[in-house]
Amino acid sequence: MNITWHRSLTEDKKKLIFGNETEDSLTKAYDKKRTVHAGGKSTPLTPEDAGREWMKASMQPVSGEKLVYVNVPFCQTRCSYCGFFKNFAKPDMMEAFTNGIVREIEDCARLPHFSTGNINAVYIGGGTPGALDSEQIGRMLGAVRNSLPLANDCEFTFETRTFQLTDEKVDVCLNAGVNRFSIGVQSFDTRIRRAIGRVDDGETVMKNIERLKRINEAAVSIDLMFGLPYQSESDYIEDILTAHSLEVDGMALYQLNVFEDGRMNSQIKDEKLPKPASTAQQALFFLKAHQVMQNLGYLQPSMAHWVRDTRDRSLYNRMSKKGTLMHAFGAGAGGRTHSHGYFTHMALEPYLGMVNAGRKPIMGMSLQADRHRLHSLITYQIDCGFLRLNDLDAEAGFSLSEVFEPLFESWRKRRMITLADRTLKLTPSGQFWYVNMAQSLIDVLEIAYDSEYSPAAGRVAGQN
Ligand code: SF4
Repeated sequence: MNITWHRSLTEDKKKLIFGNETEDSLTKAYDKKRTVHAGGKSTPLTPEDAGREWMKASMQPVSGEKLVYVNVPFCQTRCSYCGFFKNFAKPDMMEAFTNGIVREIEDCARLPHFSTGNINAVYIGGGTPGALDSEQIGRMLGAVRNSLPLANDCEFTFETRTFQLTDEKVDVCLNAGVNRFSIGVQSFDTRIRRAIGRVDDGETVMKNIERLKRINEAAVSIDLMFGLPYQSESDYIEDILTAHSLEVDGMALYQLNVFEDGRMNSQIKDEKLPKPASTAQQALFFLKAHQVMQNLGYLQPSMAHWVRDTRDRSLYNRMSKKGTLMHAFGAGAGGRTHSHGYFTHMALEPYLGMVNAGRKPIMGMSLQADRHRLHSLITYQIDCGFLRLNDLDAEAGFSLSEVFEPLFESWRKRRMITLADRTLKLTPSGQFWYVNMAQSLIDVLEIAYDSEYSPAAGRVAGQN
């Protein structure tokens, strides 16, 4: 462990980790967002090793907190900013998928890895799970509920857009035990919605949310985005105020990422869409929204998520950042055992081929980084807006805070953090850059162990 790691950094590494010396840390602390999620590097296994590891893991009972993620890879239309689209919703494919996922869940449920311990949160995501018809939704949710050991207070989230979300589908979800809806709204402004490929107009979305709230059987959390094409700061704040007036239980406020190789970037380059806000402008949107949410009395369980009171627990999102063990089902789903990460086949043909042959449809597996527990502690706490140095030192087994001191000092000077009682807290400008900051801490940790370590420099923000 080299605690003078900062003395031998190359200029490139220094820039990635420390960012820019500036008085205006909100808009200029770093040039842009480096990655979508902070994390360490894992080591991919060969297919033979993956097969062996999976056999071993699936036969081992597990205890402690657990999550379930189900990926439904269908959408009725394709949104231009999205990196998650897989397949258009075709009835025959969705029927085959439903049969497959029910079998996958029921087969897994017989193995000790899946049948032991209680599951604290289930997230049905995608894609758009609401693209399935109500009978298919009922069968899929029934398999989760009846085959897996859900804790009594398990958070059971169904993610969907409001498009084609019929009363019947909502009833099926509620009857199967769904207690949280996560609704992708992005914006209530019809012009902005249409520009990014959403279908319903703003009025229809509002009516659907009112309907879910009126039923009063599940928490309703919505996603809003800032920095969208055509969106001004006041449009964004208007969206927040609309959501507030609808009395949603939670709001996830996400920064638009224009991926360099994404569809939206091509549309912008071809002048089919206007340039959206730059990262620096997004920072100003962020600050304004932060002030509005605080003034409205919302609580902030994590950097992008605000809750009206305690009904939206947002358990899945928080626990997944902690590195909690996660069972993955469906096509293109990512999960983890205590020591490995894995993902299932994205394409339906191999996914169904393996499931129908009675095999877990694993496409790849990797050994988690050596210090993955420390990485998770860092990403989880930073995503909550703080870092407890005593927790860090206890997990490391020595004074890791000394290793981070040059970075802390640089952030403190730029007013991105405060540090008191051995707890670091992110200021609003630190909160805007929280992903870069968590990634920098992980990079420093790795460089202190190995000076040759190369920090990842993802290509995320095409909007700059
Ligand atoms: S509905 Fe969701 S997953 Fe599907 S394309 Fe739009 S944003 Fe992506």
